[in-house]
Amino acid sequence: MTYVIAEPCVDLKDKACIEECPVDCIYEGQRSLYIHPDECVDCGACEPVCPVEAIFYEDDTPEEWKDYYKANVEFFDELGSPGGASKLGLIERDHPFIAALPPQEHAE
Ligand code: SF4
Ligand code: SF4
Repeated sequence: MTYVIAEPCVDLKDKACIEECPVDCIYEGQRSLYIHPDECVDCGACEPVCPVEAIFYEDDTPEEWKDYYKANVEFFDELGSPGGASKLGLIERDHPFIAALPPQEHAE
């Protein structure tokens, strides 16, 4: 089980969650952040701090955002398990599913 970052993060990337993660497993892609499914320790610390409620426990991810689970997992197919997001910084790509989304508007 893991936590998942869903659509509200796309093109927003507020990054409040990164500060909370005790194991530094929230990685930054071009348009969204991604939680490493194997490195996440399911502590739940990130979920309440996301200002747009983009983070869900795997089983609680809303039906319309189920594909984001796959996106968070498959984003790491090439990266493996780097063991820490901060040393990588911005990863200049996204999962193809997220890369193909139209630009997301955020009412601020
Ligand atoms: S706090 Fe929410 S919107 Fe901000 S980067 Fe994390 S998941 Fe994305
Ligand atoms: S649940 Fe905990 S370990 Fe997993 S991404 Fe959120 S803060 Fe990090």
